[in-house]
Amino acid sequence: MKNCDQFHELFEAFALGALDAPDREALEAHLATGCLDCAKSVEEARGLASQLRYLAPEAAPSDMLKGRLMQIVRVEAQSSRRFAKPKSTIPLWMWAGVAALLVATVYSAWNAQRLTREIQHADQTAAAILQHRHELETQLEDAKREASILVDPASVKIALASPDPQAPPLEAKWNSKLGIVLTGQKVPAPAGDRVLQLWLIPKTPGGKPIPSLTLRPDADGKFVLLVSNPPELMAATKALAITEEPPGGSLAPTTPPLWVGGVS
Ligand SMILES: [Zn+2]
Repeated sequence: MKNCDQFHELFEAFALGALDAPDREALEAHLATGCLDCAKSVEEARGLASQLRYLAPEAAPSDMLKGRLMQIVRVEAQSSRRFAKPKSTIPLWMWAGVAALLVATVYSAWNAQRLTREIQHADQTAAAILQHRHELETQLEDAKREASILVDPASVKIALASPDPQAPPLEAKWNSKLGIVLTGQKVPAPAGDRVLQLWLIPKTPGGKPIPSLTLRPDADGKFVLLVSNPPELMAATKALAITEEPPGGSLAPTTPPLWVGGVS
């Protein structure tokens, strides 16, 4: 007795592995009876299924997504059987193919998004590394310049004294080509985030102090301040002075000088 008709709509889903257990077992049992017609149909459906797999990019969609789409395919298959749709409706195997392509497309889009994020992250990391390298290079350049100024016999030594007998003396070396290096030890840090600021006092009578860089001593009271491009020539400068100023420094001194040293 032939009951092949009930399997006609199941071959493609069977080949795609999308059949639910009762249908699958029924078809397997039928195939086990040795029905050549149905075996041939299953063979054809497998051929189509493998062609469909070739259409989809090599991707590994998540099992959850795949499971959900396959469930949609199965619901579609059940309702199409329940309402006994005419033969002209989209065959089940095509739904499965659409689902497979949809899975691949969703996965590709998700993957591309993830890749974009990873590239952005890599770009940021590379930028940070370059920035860090640039900072290290700048520090190295500064250190070289400081050393050159300190050892060059052409540098002029300037001793800075304080009216406060408790304050340690400071020393500057000014090289007309390389700049000024100001060093100090055991210098008490200004209160809060206030800073010490260097000023160049011009020889011009009545000339206003010219603002230069600011600094804060480290925890041990040490500092090395490099002024690569002093705002005035040594020949036009009468003295160096240091005052305490608010963070960022001032355009004109707001406190009396803590240290002063004549440029000879
Ligand atoms: Zn059969």
